[in-house]
Amino acid sequence: MSMLGNILRSLSSLIYGDGCIICGDHTHKGMHSICTKCRLEIPLTHFYSKEDNPVKERFDGFVAVEHASAMFFYVTNSRWQGLVHRFKYSGKWQIAYSMGRWYGSLLKESGLYADIDVIVPVPLHPIKILKRGYNQSRYIAEGMAKEMGVKVDARSVRRLRNNPSQARNTATARWANVESLFGVRRTEALRAKHILVVDDVLTTGATITSCIQAIKAALPDCRVSVAALSTTIRRERM
Ligand SMILES: [Zn+2]
Repeated sequence: MSMLGNILRSLSSLIYGDGCIICGDHTHKGMHSICTKCRLEIPLTHFYSKEDNPVKERFDGFVAVEHASAMFFYVTNSRWQGLVHRFKYSGKWQIAYSMGRWYGSLLKESGLYADIDVIVPVPLHPIKILKRGYNQSRYIAEGMAKEMGVKVDARSVRRLRNNPSQARNTATARWANVESLFGVRRTEALRAKHILVVDDVLTTGATITSCIQAIKAALPDCRVSVAALSTTIRRERM
């Protein structure tokens, strides 16, 4: 961007506040710092309003879930991938929170998630939190909780191993990599609850499955649903 462009943008930030968290635009007023144009263009899955959908099917045969969905399709080299990268790798946790609020309002509208008691973000290992400064899924969960009127529990479930990033692993390696990755330490807080497990990107579902298996092993009387902010799982059955 030219120097003049930068100056104009800085001036408009001063006058109108920060622009859209996705595109930076100041002119299309929207909700939760996301402009109307981005709200119209984001590739929403609409899985959250369907009982049966490709994300829910992904868990069939592995672990029992009540409901499962993702908010938008994670499209490689798109601004939607850029959006996830900014809150995951560039310190922009506010984006995770704003997107969480939007997703929370969609889940509320859907009605399927009305009896959720508590939201549990998929935990990161403490070493990764030290490096990144925060758990992005925690901010997504906090945003959702605000809209859904429930609490976040980010203490009861913990990550036992600091496993390497899954991004470059094959599907088989991912499943081997996540065995006994999580543990539950405060079972009283979650007993007999309907728990919504929240993650940022759902690919194979291996990490979330491992997390749910740990929860169900410690708390056989609880029910679990899944809400990922984005997914690589497409519309067609796989
Ligand atoms: Zn925008």
